[in-house]
Amino acid sequence: MTAALYLLRSGAKVAVVEKLSPGGQVLMTEEIENYPGFPKGIKGFELADLMAAHVDTYAHEKVGDEVREIRPGEKRHQLLVGEEWIETKSLILCTGARYRKLGVPGEAAFIGRGVSYCALCDGNFFRDRVVAVVGGGNSALEEALYLSRLVKKLYLIHRRDEFRGVKCYQDKCFTHPKMEVLRSSVIREIRGDSEVRSVLVENLKSGETRDLPVDGVFVFVGFEPVIEYLPAEVARDKGGVITDLEMRTNVPGIFAAGDIRSKNCRQVATAVGDGATAATAALAYLEQLDA
Ligand SMILES: Cc1cc2nc3c(=O)[nH]c(=O)nc-3n(C[C@H](O)[C@H](O)[C@H](O)COP(=O)(O)OP(=O)(O)OC[C@H]3O[C@@H](n4cnc5c(N)ncnc54)[C@H](O)[C@@H]3O)c2cc1C
Repeated sequence: MTAALYLLRSGAKVAVVEKLSPGGQVLMTEEIENYPGFPKGIKGFELADLMAAHVDTYAHEKVGDEVREIRPGEKRHQLLVGEEWIETKSLILCTGARYRKLGVPGEAAFIGRGVSYCALCDGNFFRDRVVAVVGGGNSALEEALYLSRLVKKLYLIHRRDEFRGVKCYQDKCFTHPKMEVLRSSVIREIRGDSEVRSVLVENLKSGETRDLPVDGVFVFVGFEPVIEYLPAEVARDKGGVITDLEMRTNVPGIFAAGDIRSKNCRQVATAVGDGATAATAALAYLEQLDA
């Protein structure tokens, strides 16, 4: 939406293609407390509506469908949107990301009420409280270390004995006074009333289960940028689409912004910044194309 806003204000002809409602992951966020300008926080859906209303103050084409395929060309790119092919001189990929879920009872019901996939977003809600962090890779360990500065106690729960995260993170976590590491253990259920109160943890070796009182559960068991519709020509790595600092991909005329990019900090503020940068670079590209 930020990219569209910047392009529209510069007089470009813009189509915004969105398969659901405008807002993406923000719509799944109960309360956003770290987007500047809202000192008391703002509901995710309210921020999404405000952004959509802002874009709507400029005339543009809204396409309520899914981009299913992209065929890059030299000066024009073809997009399959729903059943129809459309042509564009430039495009900005902003299809975001999804977080892998645990898939246990209680998880979906408690998202935003104790279950989180982002320490940077929600850690502050758990100051001086007890949380469980699930996962064994680098992101789980990094996020656990971040949370350890805020919480009173943290259980690090991993289904295997060995962690995949880098050794220095492992050392820091395993010796951290606030962390208790539960290896070969899985969460079978997340329990609570209006908020999370406990997790049912099973030790896979002994088969023993216990109800662990916690206030929050942070799940870091995998992250996937939404890129399945992209052609092989667009370079990506494990983290997503690779861009330069101007949000240019390796394919001239194709830009990427937000969580779809390979980057570390996935937030509304960074998505907005990427969108503004991508729009500015796309305008420069169009000027040079039309010269
Ligand atoms: C539960 C939760 C809480 C969060 N809390 C915070 C927070 O407190 N503060 C913060 O700054 N960040 C928070 N985040 C992260 C933040 O929401 C994201 O960083 C941000 O939304 C990324 O924006 P985006 O536009 O890149 O992608 P997304 O928000 O993922 O939006 C992508 C959009 O693309 C659409 N789309 C996908 N594929 C297609 C397709 N093929 N065709 C057409 N449309 C398509 C989707 O429908 C979606 O609307 C949270 C995320 C989650 C999941």
